[in-house]
Amino acid sequence: TITIAWLRRDLRLADHPALWEASQEGVVIPLYILDADEQAGAAELWWRHHSLQQLQEALARHGLPLLLRRGKPLQILQEIIAESSSRAVFWNRRYDPAGIAQDTAIKAELRSQGIAVRSFMGDCLVEPWLHHHDEKPYKVFTPFWKSLLARFSIAPALPEPDFSALPHELTQNLATETLTDWHLLPQKPNWAKRFSKSWAPGETGAKNRLQQFLDESLANYSEGRNFPAQNSVSRLSPHLSHGEISPRQIWQETRFYLRQHPELTDEGEHFLRELGWREFSWHLLFHFPKLPDTPLRPEFANFPWQKDALLLERWQSGQTGYPIVDAGMRELWQSGWMHNRVRMICASFLIKDLLVSWQQGEAWFWDTLVDADLANNSASWQWVAGSGADAAPYFRIFNPVLQGEKFDPEGKYLRRWLPELSALPDRFIHQPWAADQDLLKKAGVVLGGNYPQRLIDHHEARQWALDIFEKLKKNN
Ligand code: FAD
Repeated sequence: TITIAWLRRDLRLADHPALWEASQEGVVIPLYILDADEQAGAAELWWRHHSLQQLQEALARHGLPLLLRRGKPLQILQEIIAESSSRAVFWNRRYDPAGIAQDTAIKAELRSQGIAVRSFMGDCLVEPWLHHHDEKPYKVFTPFWKSLLARFSIAPALPEPDFSALPHELTQNLATETLTDWHLLPQKPNWAKRFSKSWAPGETGAKNRLQQFLDESLANYSEGRNFPAQNSVSRLSPHLSHGEISPRQIWQETRFYLRQHPELTDEGEHFLRELGWREFSWHLLFHFPKLPDTPLRPEFANFPWQKDALLLERWQSGQTGYPIVDAGMRELWQSGWMHNRVRMICASFLIKDLLVSWQQGEAWFWDTLVDADLANNSASWQWVAGSGADAAPYFRIFNPVLQGEKFDPEGKYLRRWLPELSALPDRFIHQPWAADQDLLKKAGVVLGGNYPQRLIDHHEARQWALDIFEKLKKNN
């Protein structure tokens, strides 16, 4: 049998149920389609280019080409079926609304033509359609996670398929496009030039990242995960969002590590619980497909957002005058990633201090994050906005100065991303406007010159936001 294994956001060979099952049937044609209608973010495309390149090399070591085609998926699948006389298409399931709709339509069409179509669970710990005994989806994380742990045992991860025994001549003869044809990398100016210093996309990079995290950072995870200057989180998110590693592999490797290091059990459980938030986000997106653009709590639908392009632009470019926010936004721009604590602070600042809609922030993150993930991004933005599931209450408004002082007390993170403030003493680095002119001068800081004046006064903005939220509450 010749089976097409259609790869999407699962760019790996190990623990890949669709590839594994296809390899059990006979000849495998690994296929990647660049969907002409997809709205991808630019930073994510940078990652995808490198990830596909790594996958090509990994498959080449098995003597298999990765078939690259661009266009409408159904049409391309039909072309390859005709070119290869394949009678089967396998894939790992997607759970985003557009992906579900596309897969359902393609499955029906191909089956009507007598093609065997099989789909598998590859990218979650359990299928996201888990729900309460009363048939309702979970909206609060803790009962969701408890229920998941109590009702399911996580299946062992699959090994890499052994393609070597398969005849490959046929797959070698199919025409493929090249990655360079696709122009996924930024053209001039190359804003991603610093990305490769921070990242090693691909399956091997993902495995190494996990091992390094377990060996060097897990021991300090619970305590250190809130401190952006520390090397305490896994930075696995872009690997996960491109499916270079599966949550099942992370689960299994972490459990294996904990058996050898039982003293780290609490840290390991905490880390796996964060992976649980990813499961929860996919659960939410599956049950509430409008999550990316519509507030889950309808009372938030009429929020009077500011439509001020300048405010948004200053936030995007890290020019708000609040150092922790600016450092985060510059980390995002320069590395394609931002630490979770800082993501929360920056998101809160946009929504609750600048009163710019969370959808605008979500769109910017989508375009600039290498780990842009529809479920995690939309669930997290709604969480910060207070309009989502298990969300932070609307009156919790992060104070950017206190947050900075608490989670970056020595200003190490700030000095890394805002070198123009680096000579300020620690006690002023989170609020340069409080320093006197002599001190600023000595540190080479000119407010409104090489570093911006504050865009707003946080205390006033906070009160303004609270008043609006109170009014909304009364009207509902
Ligand atoms: P670790 O702490 O090492 O956690 C391991 C894994 O668990 C992560 O890789 C991630 O898959 C998952 N995880 C951890 N925290 C969360 C969380 N709060 N919600 C969901 N999953 C979580 N994450 C994305 O992957 N893509 C996004 O587009 C995204 N957008 C976000 C937007 C906002 C406004 C906020 C506040 C958070 C967002 N997150 C997003 C969640 C979180 O910030 C990142 O998953 C995390 O910072 C990734 O770093 P890490 O891999 O070192 O995490």
